Amino acid sequence: MQVVILGGGYAGLTVAIEVKKAHPRSSIILIDKKTYFTKLTQLHKTVTESPKKYRLDYAQLGQRLGFRFIQDDIVFDATTLARFSRDRGLLTAAGALSFDALVVTSGATPVTPVPADGIAIWNLSQIAAFGLADKLNSLLPGSSVTICGAGATGLQFLGEIAARYLRKFRLSLINFAEILLDQWPIEFHRYVMDKLNYWNIEYYPVTALEQVEQDQLVMRNRANGEIIEKKSDLTLLFTGVAPQPFRISADSFGRVLHDGEPLDALYTAGDCSHFQTGLNAMTAQAAMRKAKVVAHNIAFHLRQAPRKYLFEELGYFVSLGPGDAIGYLLQQNLRVTGMAAWLLKEGIESQFDLYLNGIDTFLI
Ligand SMILES: Cc1cc2nc3c(=O)[nH]c(=O)nc-3n(C[C@H](O)[C@H](O)[C@H](O)COP(=O)(O)OP(=O)(O)OC[C@H]3O[C@@H](n4cnc5c(N)ncnc54)[C@H](O)[C@@H]3O)c2cc1C
Repeated sequence: MQVVILGGGYAGLTVAIEVKKAHPRSSIILIDKKTYFTKLTQLHKTVTESPKKYRLDYAQLGQRLGFRFIQDDIVFDATTLARFSRDRGLLTAAGALSFDALVVTSGATPVTPVPADGIAIWNLSQIAAFGLADKLNSLLPGSSVTICGAGATGLQFLGEIAARYLRKFRLSLINFAEILLDQWPIEFHRYVMDKLNYWNIEYYPVTALEQVEQDQLVMRNRANGEIIEKKSDLTLLFTGVAPQPFRISADSFGRVLHDGEPLDALYTAGDCSHFQTGLNAMTAQAAMRKAKVVAHNIAFHLRQAPRKYLFEELGYFVSLGPGDAIGYLLQQNLRVTGMAAWLLKEGIESQFDLYLNGIDTFLI
C-alpha cells in the first residue's frame, strides 16, 4: 500500500506513524514545502531560545519513522483534489506519484499577512522562520512592543516576553474582544487581568487595529469609536489563523467531500479540515485525533468497522510565562492555575516528543 501525505505537521506525522504501525510494509511518502517540522505549540519559547530547538529535520524523521520525504510546495484547490482522486496520482518535484490513499494535512496560515521583510510588524510566519530572541535583543531599551491579539497564542507570547523583558520594554496588549479568553468562564479573564495589572501592561480591550505604518499604529475603540494613535517599535500579530489553502470538508471518517460526496482514496486531517462530527478546533490535540481516525480507516480500507471521528476536547492550557499557566481538565469548571497548570502544559507538550520516539501516551 502506498500512502502519500501532503503536509508534515502534527496531523501528517501522526498519519505516517499510525499507518506504519498498522502496516509495517506500507510505503509512505511525506511531502512538505519546508525541510523541517516545526513544533508550533512551543513557538512562544523562541522569545528566549533559538527556533532550531523546536525543529525536526524531515529527512531524519523519515529514517526513524519509515517514510520517504519529498520537499515540494503543492498548489491545489478543490478541483485539483478531485483530479488527484480520479487519477490516483499527483505530480511532485520528485516526479509523478501514484497512491492508494492521499491525506491532505496542510494546516493553517495567519489571517493577517505582513511583508516578509517587515521590520516593525511580524506575524507567526516570521516568528516560526526566525524566532523572536534575536529580534527582541536588537531593540533598544525603552522600546515599545505591542501584542495584537489576546487569544491563547498572544497571551503565551506576552507571558514569555514579560518574564524576560518587563524592565526593558513598554508592553501593550490589544484585545479585539471585551473579555480575555471569552470562550471560557469569567474566572479565566480575571486571572489573566490580575497578571496584566501586575506586569503593568498597557491594555486596550474592545479595540481593533486599523492601520500600521512603519512604527505608527492606528487603533479604534469598538465600543465608543475613539481613534487611538500609538507608537510601536515592534508589533506582533496574533490575530488568528485560517485553513490553508482552504477549509477542506470531510465526512465523519475523514474522507474529503466534493460536492457533498466522498472522493475516492482522498482523506484530510488537522487544521485544514472540517469534519462532520467531533471537535473541529484548530489545535494540535484535534489534529492528532483526526489523523489517528484517518490512519485507521486507510489501514483497514474502511472495511471492518470504519472509525468515526467523535473526539471532544480533553482540556486546554495557556501558559503565562515560565511557572504560570491557566487552563482546565475535562470540564471548564475544573480550573487549574499557577505552577500546577504550567507543569501539566509542559507534560502535554512533551507527549508529542515521546510519540515521535515511539511511545504513545495519548490514552484517547
Ligand atoms: C504559537 C502556537 C501555539 C499553539 N499552542 C497549542 C497548544 O498549546 N495546544 C494545541 O492543541 N494546539 C496549539 N496550537 C495549534 C497547533 O499548533 C495546530 O493546531 C497544529 O499545528 C495543527 O497541525 P496540522 O498538522 O494541521 O498543521 P501544521 O502543524 O501547521 O502543519 C502543516 C504542514 O503542512 C505544510 N504545508 C502546507 N501547505 C503545503 C503545501 N501546499 N505543500 C506542501 N506542504 C504544505 C506546512 O509547511 C506544515 O509543515 C498552537 C499554535 C501556535 C501557532
